[in-house]
Amino acid sequence: MRYSGARVILEGLRGQRGWRPAWREPAPKSDYDIVIIGGGGHGLSTAYYLAREHGAKSVAVLERGWLGSGNIGRNTTIVRANYYLPGNSEFYSHSLKMWEGLERELNYNVMHSQRGLINLFHSDGQRDAFARRGNAMANQGDDAILLDRDGVRKHLPYLDFDNPRFPVYGGLLHPRGGTARHDAVAWGYARAADRRGVDLIQNCEVTGIDVQNGRVTGLQTTRGSIRAKKVGIVVAGRSSQVAAMAGLRLPIESHVLQAFVTEGLKPVINHVVSFGMGHFYISQSDKGGLVFGGDIDFYPSYAQRGNLPMAEHVMEAAMTLMPVIGQARVLRSWGGIMDMTPDGSPIIDKTGIDGLYIDCGWNYGGFKAVPASGFAFAHLIAQDRPHRIAERFRLDRFTTGRGLMDEEGTGAQHNLH
Ligand SMILES: Cc1cc2nc3c(=O)[nH]c(=O)nc-3n(C[C@H](O)[C@H](O)[C@H](O)COP(=O)(O)OP(=O)(O)OC[C@H]3O[C@@H](n4cnc5c(N)ncnc54)[C@H](O)[C@@H]3O)c2cc1C
Repeated sequence: MRYSGARVILEGLRGQRGWRPAWREPAPKSDYDIVIIGGGGHGLSTAYYLAREHGAKSVAVLERGWLGSGNIGRNTTIVRANYYLPGNSEFYSHSLKMWEGLERELNYNVMHSQRGLINLFHSDGQRDAFARRGNAMANQGDDAILLDRDGVRKHLPYLDFDNPRFPVYGGLLHPRGGTARHDAVAWGYARAADRRGVDLIQNCEVTGIDVQNGRVTGLQTTRGSIRAKKVGIVVAGRSSQVAAMAGLRLPIESHVLQAFVTEGLKPVINHVVSFGMGHFYISQSDKGGLVFGGDIDFYPSYAQRGNLPMAEHVMEAAMTLMPVIGQARVLRSWGGIMDMTPDGSPIIDKTGIDGLYIDCGWNYGGFKAVPASGFAFAHLIAQDRPHRIAERFRLDRFTTGRGLMDEEGTGAQHNLH
């Protein structure tokens, strides 16, 4: 069934009786050509592009919970292409272009809203760094406008411009940056993959990876054994645990990232805004809630909930940047498990085991990567060679030290990226 405005009107007239479930609920088969572990954004998009781009006919996605129960449904929905380093910048640029055609491609409203993103700076040194980043973005073919203090004031009049510690000097505006509705992205890819014959199997936890003579042969799951010629691991915060099932040790630490939303308010924040002196960012959802977040919790954890010290830190940053937020009531907070690499950049690569591939290390920025990551990972699995947009996301950079992409310039400490 294609979705359209005409369909919505038609269903309205006939009592909404014609809608069908957006995807099937198949039982797992005993055998697939390709199995993807993880029904998050990256796993679902990988399965979709395997079918769409490479004509794969026998593909399953195994998800331990329900589709979209992980970080894809927990993030703060920011989509941008403002990276600086070669490797990252062309990849995220490609991803943003894919976002721009995604709703038509999937026939699904993911509410992609290019409302513009402004990164604030608060010193001369930061201005130089953002000017350099803006130039790199422009060289990449993306958009960047350096705003002075008055330029920022025009867009964001509610900020505290004269905070004694962190006065606002200006900002880097990325007009094509914005947001998208996170769980709709999971649902859109799920529906589109299902329509191309992919089996989406929920409540199916992978508990073991079978390897014989250096080659993957199948999986053990809570719904039985499944044979597979190729397996892709795409489990975000659980990457180390699942890779360990095949005897692999990954350069990943898992940390919790929290987010917060206030009660619904009239429109006040038109952009995505990020504070340059603390890790704080904010936007307003279409329902009116102010959605914001900050740093990851500094200690490793697999708990999908955050802790109070970081909640306090984020609130302090919010009050420093825009004291007006003190009038809003926080409705709820939540957490997701981040797969942090030591250089803050992702991994899309083969493992040392034939037929076993891995896509992980998205840190706290993998939502915007969903289209390009699935596209590149599908290419790697289908063709056994990396796609050019992701060829620098190699696993061995952490053993050789060559090709590290430390975007934040913070060194080899997972929790600082
Ligand atoms: C609070 C927060 C804010 C964020 N904000 C942004 C943002 O604004 N912009 C941005 O770009 N990124 C953001 N991110 C990061 C982004 O959400 C993640 O990088 C991205 O969603 C990770 O990829 P995924 O969607 O595939 O992960 P997930 O949705 O977590 O998918 C992994 C799936 O694997 C499943 N799984 C795990 N183990 C097994 C197993 N053994 N068997 C079967 N299935 C298994 C899990 O249940 C899960 O559904 C944020 C994250 C959080 C938590």
